[in-house]
Amino acid sequence: MNRFFIFVIAIATLCCQPKNEISIYTAMNAKPYGSIDGKNVMQYSLQNKAGMIVKVINYGCTITDIIVPDKAGSLGNVLLGFDSLAGHMQQENPYMGPIVGRYANRIGKASFRIGDQTYKLSANNGENMLHGGTVGFNRKVWDAKIFSDSSVLMSYTSPDGEEGFPGNLKVEFTLTLNSDNSIQLEYSATTDKPTPVNLTHHPYFNLSAGKNATILDHELKIAADSITPVDSTLIPTGKLLAVKGTPFDFTTAKRIGLEVNQVPGGPPVGYDHNYVLKRAKNLELAAVLYDPQSGRQLELLTTECGVQFYSGNFLDGTLRGKGGVVYPKHAGMCLEAQYFPDSPNQPSFPNTILLPGEKYRQTTIYRFSIR
Ligand code: BGC
Repeated sequence: MNRFFIFVIAIATLCCQPKNEISIYTAMNAKPYGSIDGKNVMQYSLQNKAGMIVKVINYGCTITDIIVPDKAGSLGNVLLGFDSLAGHMQQENPYMGPIVGRYANRIGKASFRIGDQTYKLSANNGENMLHGGTVGFNRKVWDAKIFSDSSVLMSYTSPDGEEGFPGNLKVEFTLTLNSDNSIQLEYSATTDKPTPVNLTHHPYFNLSAGKNATILDHELKIAADSITPVDSTLIPTGKLLAVKGTPFDFTTAKRIGLEVNQVPGGPPVGYDHNYVLKRAKNLELAAVLYDPQSGRQLELLTTECGVQFYSGNFLDGTLRGKGGVVYPKHAGMCLEAQYFPDSPNQPSFPNTILLPGEKYRQTTIYRFSIR
């Protein structure tokens, strides 16, 4: 075939692409993923020069896939999740991959006060609110656009009164895939009434990419000397507990399975605790997760003051995820960079009330490597 015909075929192929399939950059494409109430859900695939792939949908800004090499160079998906929009939408989805908000983690008795006013929120975890309520940010279809050849911008305006929260809250979220195999998550928000804001993402990692059924052999290090201990409903007592000499101690790298069954509390037994990071408001290394078998390492950097380490305790083998795989207890784990749980009711915790005229910002980076 001569060059002219190759050129004509290439142009024809480009022109015949389905209308809503964008393929502007070699590094980025967007394809339809379904629709909800007439709103299109798209899946954006980002690939960097090193070959790492990240996929995100605008249903709950859910990160659906993170595909990175192991020490032998084989690519594998290190995220738990689902293959379809229906999978993500199911009631039983325990927040696999989405943004959580307007307030990540729990607010005790689903209520808080600002000044003289008490706000009653929707309770979706016993008498408490978890991850923003019954229809949190994870269950919204966000407006989305390709921002650059390596980033996607998503936005959502949460109306005054949604799930009981005061104020119209305008939220923007940007996901960027960097060339050093890191995923940068940037959140910002503004409000027209004082309101609590605490945003994060909730990916379940298993760095073995399906080779090991659980994360119990992963090693974890967290830059925290204390946690915020909790009551039987996982609401902080307001005190801090030094981790030294307890199963909570990850100040040096430790196998997660080593003491997971000695963690106080439960059932189910396991880690589901907020670690108090040693510094505040700079983008710094907060945790390192390592899977010795695959050689994959994940570093968490964040501007936040806390990180919730959740060892997938509520997974119980009833949920079927990607490729029909059943997720047992500890199949995956979360490292959620955030403010402390229940801060609106805890005067000694850092303030989470955003005021009109202020801008909420948080940046978190998940950086992958091998060793
Ligand atoms: C919480 C767990 C909760 C899980 C839901 C985590 O962030 O800390 O208590 O069960 O989210 O998937």
